[in-house]
Amino acid sequence: NKQWLLASRPVGEPTAQNWTLNETQVREPEAGEVLVKVLYLSLDPAMRGWMNDGKSYIEPVGIGEVMRAGAIGQVVESGDENFSVGDFVHGMLGVQQYATVAGQSLHKVDPALAPLPRYLGVLGMPGMTAYFGLLNTGQPQAGETVVVSGAAGAVGAVVGQIAKLKGCRVVGIAGGKDKCDYLTQELGFDAAIDYKEQDVLSGLKAACPEGIDVFFDNVGGEILDAVLALINFKARIVICGAISQYNNTTPVKGPSNYLSLLINRARMEGIIVFDNAEHYGEAAKEMAGWIAQGKLKAKEHVVEGIDTFPDTLMMLFRGENFGKLVIEVAKP
Ligand code: NDP
Repeated sequence: NKQWLLASRPVGEPTAQNWTLNETQVREPEAGEVLVKVLYLSLDPAMRGWMNDGKSYIEPVGIGEVMRAGAIGQVVESGDENFSVGDFVHGMLGVQQYATVAGQSLHKVDPALAPLPRYLGVLGMPGMTAYFGLLNTGQPQAGETVVVSGAAGAVGAVVGQIAKLKGCRVVGIAGGKDKCDYLTQELGFDAAIDYKEQDVLSGLKAACPEGIDVFFDNVGGEILDAVLALINFKARIVICGAISQYNNTTPVKGPSNYLSLLINRARMEGIIVFDNAEHYGEAAKEMAGWIAQGKLKAKEHVVEGIDTFPDTLMMLFRGENFGKLVIEVAKP
């Protein structure tokens, strides 16, 4: 069983020195446990945070431990009567080829309903983040202007499409022409701003003539500052992530113009997807319906081979993923 262990805590960008590739024996499942062969690993910006020590919404990964990761796998041995050999499951299986875990920590997925990697994207954690973060916290109303950063990514692309479904004007911020074209030409965004080429503030001014009512922020830093300058009365700013700050060696850059919240009686609120766990089923059902009707498009970026994990993870921080980033560890 090949597995990637966290060898040390990174300072700034993770490097090869932070990882060890380990080989061990597979552990037989005990009563209540299931042995799962990992097929698809979810690569998430949050992994960078889990590598840090200190207080967060979840315990850090310990030094010498298998790196935490959500994954889709197939049951190869079962000590839990709820799971049979051959079942496809989702769980926190870790960056490894096989995982022996409590059956209770798994739930089944159906490859007949959607391609397996999709359960890590729009039908999985990023999709749930977009759905609950936008609808519960952003509370978009028809006719309002919604801006989303990291717009071509796993979370951002779903946010923008749901906002369109709710009748909003939607503006995405993403890196590069291909991603911006994808947003406007394939996903139906009203406008897209290429933050690598354009000045974001002037791009937003042009694209949001009536100001910004909802901002779903995946990026933080300067982009958050630019948006705050243009928010409307009672605007809602959803703090989902701040990927531009995760590899900082200096303190996180906060908004210098936060008094815009005061002037506009606006609110900025952080979200954690797991808080909605009891409602995932309903959300997945509604989103699966939108996908079936062609109203919600999904894109996955699949890289082959568990050996690539340290390099593949860095694609997220370089904008090299186009869609939900997944490693195929083994074919079903
Ligand atoms: P994505 O698929 O969006 O991949 C990350 C993208 O971030 C890259 O493709 C890149 O796109 C962009 N990016 C990277 N570095 C920078 C930078 N310096 N400035 C601007 N953009 C950058 O990842 P996810 O959709 O999985 O995650 C998006 C965000 O949502 C992250 O901040 C993540 O932490 C957060 N998140 C939060 C959750 C919660 O519960 N709060 C749950 C899940 C995710 P580009 O090419 O456009 O630069």
